[in-house]
Amino acid sequence: MTKILLLGECMIELKDVSTQSNPNIAQQAFAGDVFNTAVYLKRLFPQIDVDMVTAVGKDKYSKEMLQVFNRESLGTSCVFESEDKIPGLYSIQVDAQGERSFTYWRSDSAARYVMNFMTADVMRQLSKSDIFFFSGISLGVINTEDRDKFWLLIHTLKEAGVTIAFDLNYRPKLWRDKAEAQVQFLKAFEAADILLPGVDDFAAIFDVDTVQGVIKFFKDYSFQELIVKNGEQNVHCLSEHGHHIVDVTPVTDVVDTTSAGDSFNGGYLGARMTGKSIINSVELANQVAGFVIQHSGAIVDEAAFSSQFQ
Ligand code: ADP
Repeated sequence: MTKILLLGECMIELKDVSTQSNPNIAQQAFAGDVFNTAVYLKRLFPQIDVDMVTAVGKDKYSKEMLQVFNRESLGTSCVFESEDKIPGLYSIQVDAQGERSFTYWRSDSAARYVMNFMTADVMRQLSKSDIFFFSGISLGVINTEDRDKFWLLIHTLKEAGVTIAFDLNYRPKLWRDKAEAQVQFLKAFEAADILLPGVDDFAAIFDVDTVQGVIKFFKDYSFQELIVKNGEQNVHCLSEHGHHIVDVTPVTDVVDTTSAGDSFNGGYLGARMTGKSIINSVELANQVAGFVIQHSGAIVDEAAFSSQFQ
């Protein structure tokens, strides 16, 4: 497999780095779940074509975001340019106890309108990929009026033989209520060939808070690979090869768990695309996620990352 598409939203990130003598200082970067996955996947497997599917604006930040996509060697042929919208933004604050909190300004971001750009030609182009990855955040972000069009896209891709990969990433703020999110997630579970849920997300949306419960939940679905993440506990893998449990080596000096699941997904999908076994792919994904959480922010500095994973 040589080409993966990732649909979702990349945002402007503002991280509060104020000190007592220097208040109101923020550091700016770009991040977003599928973007994080794309970055780690491409850094680990440069031979794979990794393309973002999203929309940006024409503003300064959108231009810089595109430069970051280019710097990370992500394909941009399906990064569309909105005439009148701009990217979403979020800020991270860390309180005195080290607890992080997030504030979002994304309710009318360019990425919400990505389906406006899905002409029959674009859908045909997307159908030429091997894997199409999206998340519960991608689903929550897509303009509600465009959902039918999104599911038509997924149907078209499946018909063309594209493997569909999905991670739950449930964020309550993106949904009117749980029921609305559940309806969309159940559609995604039906469509997905590769499922990458985390137990925490499952507990929050379906009140299923054990690995066994998650596995049972999926017993009537026709997935190819079900990879259940459970933080530092272990990873359960179900496929035609049976049920395997891969241990996680717990990291003791966790700095920031942002992007743990995203980087895991990047490592896993890339490894599978290059022909590694499910178990070897999970082992790599665990190493990548374990490394990322020892660093601050969603995207670890390129030099630090590549010195670890060459
Ligand atoms: P999500 O971010 O999707 O909720 P998890 O919290 O389950 O996902 O974590 C994703 C992956 O990150 C795990 O499968 C594991 O590989 C790694 N991970 C998370 N927490 C730890 C930890 N404390 N020590 C080592 N690895 C961890």
